[in-house]
Amino acid sequence: MTRKKLLLLSTGGTIASVASDDGLVPGESGEELIKMMGSLPYDITVKDILSLDSSNIQPEEWKVIAQSIYDARHDYDGIVVSHGTDTMAYTTSMMTFMLQGINLPVVFTGSQVPMNVILNDAQSNMKLAFAAAANLDPGIYLAFDRQVLRGCRAVKVRTTAFNAFESVNYPVVAQVTSDGFEVHVHNHQEIKDCRLNTNVDSNVSLLKLFPGFDPSLLEVLAHNGCRGIVIEAYGLGGMTFIRRNLVGAVGKLIRRGIPVIAASQCLYERSDLTKYEVGRQALLEGAISAHDMTSESAITKLMWALGQGMDLPAITKFFATDVAGEVTIH
Ligand code: ASP
Repeated sequence: MTRKKLLLLSTGGTIASVASDDGLVPGESGEELIKMMGSLPYDITVKDILSLDSSNIQPEEWKVIAQSIYDARHDYDGIVVSHGTDTMAYTTSMMTFMLQGINLPVVFTGSQVPMNVILNDAQSNMKLAFAAAANLDPGIYLAFDRQVLRGCRAVKVRTTAFNAFESVNYPVVAQVTSDGFEVHVHNHQEIKDCRLNTNVDSNVSLLKLFPGFDPSLLEVLAHNGCRGIVIEAYGLGGMTFIRRNLVGAVGKLIRRGIPVIAASQCLYERSDLTKYEVGRQALLEGAISAHDMTSESAITKLMWALGQGMDLPAITKFFATDVAGEVTIH
């Protein structure tokens, strides 16, 4: 059997970090990571594209990562991207929008403990990512702690434990068990050619509502050039309207053409603005439901939509559309 041809794009993160006087910093190259893993049953090519803690990964770096994946898409059977865990779920969500119709599996991974520490989780995560890149259907994934998650449904939920990520409102795509690599979800989307589109507008905000939230903050944001807002509202998406009238402030922004997305600060299940008065009033003002999307997916979807020049009606429609598995529309 011919060995699968896989590409490792390394970007830094804990997995590649070394101790320094300033704390852990990315230092190992992709080649060094591969060397530390011993022999693997694939034909692996390595490219170092960034060397950053993922707290420093921003839209500029997303473009570099997306372009590197796009350029390599016809030369390999699968791609692994090593990346810091802190912003990995934002990157995998954004890659979902930037690389729609991707024709091969692209699997992001990282670790909680650097590869050069003996009792690490880096080796098993990286081996899992390569197995996923060799075996899964095309798509953007995140592999961690024996599980492979759909990239746009992953959330980092733990700071130090090995099971740092969870799949939110979507089943785990694949898993390692004592029987080996088990695939639970297939991607039946028809693959045409991938469209790379890295235009994003980062003039957006992600706000978490709390009792006492001052709605005039929305006005300040708009005044400072903010072009779209995701609000992590309460429960099903409810917002305050007595005394501190957030619903009214949302309506004012929407009438100026600034989209406001109502997500939930509950991690699981969906927002539904139709159930309570506190949601319906927001809906009447034009708030857009994030349904069951993660905040990571909602904010990256908004950045991407604004980057395409979509206006308010187009964004409202876009958020009612499942682009690549990021949302369940009933
Ligand atoms: N701060 C690191 C990063 O995100 C954490 C990690 O990789 O686990 O780059």
